[in-house]
Amino acid sequence: MVNRVLIVEDEPRIASFLEKGLRAEGFTPTVVSSGVIGLDYALTGEFDLAILDIGLPDIDGYTVLKRMRGSGSSLPVIVLTARDSVTDTVRGLEGGADDYMPKPFRFAELLARVRLRLRGSSAAGEEKTVIEGGNVRLDLVRREVTVAGRAVELSAREFLLAEMFLRHPGQVLSREQLLSHVWGYEFDPGSNIVDVYVGYLRKKLGASLITTVRGMGYRFDLA
Ligand code: CA
Repeated sequence: MVNRVLIVEDEPRIASFLEKGLRAEGFTPTVVSSGVIGLDYALTGEFDLAILDIGLPDIDGYTVLKRMRGSGSSLPVIVLTARDSVTDTVRGLEGGADDYMPKPFRFAELLARVRLRLRGSSAAGEEKTVIEGGNVRLDLVRREVTVAGRAVELSAREFLLAEMFLRHPGQVLSREQLLSHVWGYEFDPGSNIVDVYVGYLRKKLGASLITTVRGMGYRFDLA
């Protein structure tokens, strides 16, 4: 089941971050940078979910949302708001948004909201709440991790990183992918934080689980 996601966002860096990230997770994203066009697209019935920025060059996100709901559209909408703007959030939710995402955000946070919204709609497939790989088991709801049945403590970032690896077993994940997923688009791509955290995960989950692929990134190996 392909989930088609409409992204209405005028900032190219964020739009591309969302588009790449969603595509890598198997969604089919469409990006538009204008509120008027976004509204048109939203009303086509061709999408399963919309991610809607508030600050747009023509009509703002509130207006798009109001007109959508006024036209009878029940398309799930996640509104992107400024981190400090409670007003944005309240107006967005009152205007019919299903959820909101304060900027700046990490891709993993947004993805969790997208999956949650799609799970509630008929178009969604079954979403797993426990993922396993080798002897590692992550309970996504209880935020618990076990290795060979033994509980392991992971920090929030370590957990997100582990989840990313377990969802993509045997696949090489680049530092850039991991960085944008777990730390967000605001983070310095020259940073070695990914390598540092992979080191933490190896210590906690087992050194042989994550293989370094020289010049490319890391791969989670099941055997
Ligand atoms: Ca904007």
